[in-house]
Amino acid sequence: MNDIILTGDRPTGKLHIGHYFGSLKNRVKLQNEYETYIEVADIQALTDNFSNPEKVKNNVEQIVMDQLAVGIDPEKSTIFLQSMIPEIAELTVFYSNLVTIARLQRNPTVKTEISQKKELFGESVTYGFLGYPISQAADITAFNANIIPVGEDQLPLIEQCREIVRKFNSIYGETLREPQAYIGENKRIKGLDGNEKMGKSLGNAIYLSDPEEEITKKVMNALTDPARIKKDDYGNPDICMVSYYHKLFSNSEVEEICAECRAGKRGCVVCKKQLIKNIVKELLPIQEKRRYYEENPKLVKEILMEGTKKAQKEAANTIKKVKESMKLDYFLV
Ligand code: SF4
Repeated sequence: MNDIILTGDRPTGKLHIGHYFGSLKNRVKLQNEYETYIEVADIQALTDNFSNPEKVKNNVEQIVMDQLAVGIDPEKSTIFLQSMIPEIAELTVFYSNLVTIARLQRNPTVKTEISQKKELFGESVTYGFLGYPISQAADITAFNANIIPVGEDQLPLIEQCREIVRKFNSIYGETLREPQAYIGENKRIKGLDGNEKMGKSLGNAIYLSDPEEEITKKVMNALTDPARIKKDDYGNPDICMVSYYHKLFSNSEVEEICAECRAGKRGCVVCKKQLIKNIVKELLPIQEKRRYYEENPKLVKEILMEGTKKAQKEAANTIKKVKESMKLDYFLV
């Protein structure tokens, strides 16, 4: 059986450099080695955006354009829309019997995310949000995926999926493939303000499609060593977000940048300008490719439709097997 990767993005906003270094770059590489499914997870996005469906809808094609712009090749990767695969919803219902509410509440990833969404849920989280690991298990198993690229913080979700698969197979017979987490080169990128997470709601992200003026504005406001007032003050690059991003964008120059900073031989403005130049240079080919897709929206739609058709076929095979195992194969109407 082929190794199959499932990964995806929630269409809640354009993709940023946190996504780029955290997963997209890795994904572009992996598509050459494995059969790859990339889900545009609109149903999952609705779990915490249920009252704002326009936001989700409006971001679907934006996300696909970002994916294509960084190098996802529709000839190698199947990009599909989650809500167009009703089998995922069916599997979610079936798997719901195999997971207790207490187990979901104990899932560390879910716990963290619920605590971050206090403003939305208050003291009472929705059934849909609490249960999203079940829906994610449905996403994974619908395509028989066995390799799931994730960050460390997502490992409990994969563990929960593995439990569901094992329980399903032990009750209904060997039907589903147990997936493995793939940590690979996924890394979490901090925000411009030093926050552990880069995110739209936190206002600390540089988007792949940001024009130069926007990048300039953001980098100029990034957190630097606060103790440094004058150029010849000795700096500490270890607590400066500009130096943190230089490590991502200015490889060969980093050592010199840090040494000059520590020795008080480098001004923060010059340092930021150098970073802006390097970010713009790295994002240029991505933005040029994105512009091509922006000018050809029909093509983007076709890629998504083709991928969704292929995904529908695969999910239909899975649900057939699952229903047979569950004795739900009555008759065809
Ligand atoms: Fe940060 Fe550069 Fe200023 Fe040092 S010189 S504090 S690395 S911006």
